[in-house]
Amino acid sequence: MQTADKAQPGFSTRCVHAGTLPDSYAGGVNSPLYTSTAYAYPGPANENIYQRYFNTPNQQTVADKVAALEGGEAGLVFGSGMAAIATVLLAFLKPGDQAVFMKGLYGGTHALVCDVLMRQQVDIRWADTPEAFEQALTPQTRLLYIESPSNPLLRCIDIAAIARIAKARGILSVIDNTFATPINQQPLALGVDISLHSATKYLNGHSDLNAGVVVAPAAIIRELRACATHLGGMLDAEACARLERGLKTLAIRMAHHNHNALLLARYLNELPTVARVYYPGLETDPGHSIASRQMNGFGGMLSVELTDASQVPQALRRLRIAQPALSLGGVETLVCVPAQTSHCNLSKEERQQVGISDGLIRISVGIENIEDLQADFGEAFSGQP
Ligand SMILES: *Cc1c(COP(=O)(O)O)cnc(C)c1O
Repeated sequence: MQTADKAQPGFSTRCVHAGTLPDSYAGGVNSPLYTSTAYAYPGPANENIYQRYFNTPNQQTVADKVAALEGGEAGLVFGSGMAAIATVLLAFLKPGDQAVFMKGLYGGTHALVCDVLMRQQVDIRWADTPEAFEQALTPQTRLLYIESPSNPLLRCIDIAAIARIAKARGILSVIDNTFATPINQQPLALGVDISLHSATKYLNGHSDLNAGVVVAPAAIIRELRACATHLGGMLDAEACARLERGLKTLAIRMAHHNHNALLLARYLNELPTVARVYYPGLETDPGHSIASRQMNGFGGMLSVELTDASQVPQALRRLRIAQPALSLGGVETLVCVPAQTSHCNLSKEERQQVGISDGLIRISVGIENIEDLQADFGEAFSGQP
């Protein structure tokens, strides 16, 4: 397990220093920004450099930093989380293969599986426990795909158990580690082959760029890069440089997100207008015991169900600090109603089946002062007219 390596510097040290390019020209402390789309050939490592080949200096820098944080051998940076996910699935699944996906995935991933993978004649199965994954296996199974904690109900699955099932069959295991981040969860150390992220969220952390990252053993990244070069979903140098800057504060931001979300979850849990709080950090949450074993912190995402769903519009209107907005993982607190956003294309019955009620509000807890957030939600959720 690379994360148990005593020689590894701590998370904050890796956030600040891992992967930084030396500035041999001017001696600057930051990685120089290489904006060229044309490079002299052959390149320094006898490899032609080009942004769509995923091998420019700034792309490499970010990939190396995230790989160091995940305790993995190598990484690849993409133009969005979906570009990363789509490239992984298209690189490793071909017609006739079977793949098992966790139920309740991020909506975009679910749509990609249904709209693209199924048309590629990939046989898709859904499962929600390690036992169900095991039962879904066929001789054609090539890949297992999970998300933990999941969006928006923060469901957690035993990551090591999924990795063991995959290893025993010699098939790939993939996790979307976006909600946890490498600070809170180290899937590769738990035996997973591929950990990927929407870097749009916590990794960048400032709600001002779209990116994705994949971390895996070098041999897997080599194969993935060959496919990525065909699909072309790369990130340009300036966005890489801004993502690198965002990553430098990931560890301290996550410590604050973890702290705020736990205190806000406990606070909301006591409000009479709140029927239920979904947060793996609460002892009453069904994911608490597995999350306690496999996470270093419970993350900044939580969801609440209001007792009276008709109060949702008023509650959102009354928030002064938290803002209703899509996306998550930034320094600012955001709220959204899954029934009106990510799950609006499902019927009410279908939503009920997947556990999304009309009174459900997802909260991306930011790094503001916790007293201010508690006061904001306390006032907005008071139920007073
Ligand atoms: C946002 C998100 C994605 C997609 O990422 P984009 O950067 O928007 O393409 C994938 N997985 C999870 C869990 C997400 O929250």
